[in-house]
Amino acid sequence: MSPTPVVRDFAAIVKRVRTTSHALRELGEVEGMPLLLARIGATEPDVLLIAGTHGDEPATVEAALQVLERDSVAWARGFGLDVLPCTNPSGYVRNIRETAQGVDINWSWDRTDVPEIELLREFLRGRRYRFILDFHEDWETEGFYLYEHRLGVVAAGPKMIAAIEPICAINRDAQIEGWPAQDGVVLASSSQERMDRGDGFPLVLLRDHTPHKLTTETSTAWPMAQRVRAHHAALDTLLTHYAAQPATGADDHE
Ligand SMILES: [Zn+2]
Repeated sequence: MSPTPVVRDFAAIVKRVRTTSHALRELGEVEGMPLLLARIGATEPDVLLIAGTHGDEPATVEAALQVLERDSVAWARGFGLDVLPCTNPSGYVRNIRETAQGVDINWSWDRTDVPEIELLREFLRGRRYRFILDFHEDWETEGFYLYEHRLGVVAAGPKMIAAIEPICAINRDAQIEGWPAQDGVVLASSSQERMDRGDGFPLVLLRDHTPHKLTTETSTAWPMAQRVRAHHAALDTLLTHYAAQPATGADDHE
């Protein structure tokens, strides 16, 4: 099998991130492309935003870049954000879900031979966030939906759906991706057993790095600007939601 050809220019992504005024770090390199981290706000970040884990979900990368390109930081409501605008550069430039190595980053967290996962694991070690928002897309869905995993914190999913409803269709199926769902919020299991097993990146994040993990899913069939708006509405709704919650101790999820 011949390797998938490169169809996108990663230099353009790096240039856009570097043009913003945010503090920037390279977690490492994959195929000579940097795995970038941008930091919004001066404080120790309390929010983590992830995009581009699947290389064929380009609106997630675009949405993260446009967050970094916002003019002022007033929208962040005093929160600090760590932003990973593209965690899978080799998949992104090829427009494929997996990495060039053929690995689905989300579902290979038990492996130790995947450079992207090693870089993310190293960066995340010991870090905790109030919430983690992970932008994704789905080529099969006709409506927006999200996954919400939480440990003892107030739900935000229905508020996010209400904010996104004016922007695009909502997937209101009773079952999405094999999980029960209610009005666009997927009620996937986050059982202790699944978490102990480290069943995928979302549950590893929930287990070790946050009490509140959300994953947004737009349809790749929609115009780019609409998909970006939906992801942004999700982020802005969460920041508003958390701005209204008192910050408690680091172990408030226990
Ligand atoms: Zn995805």
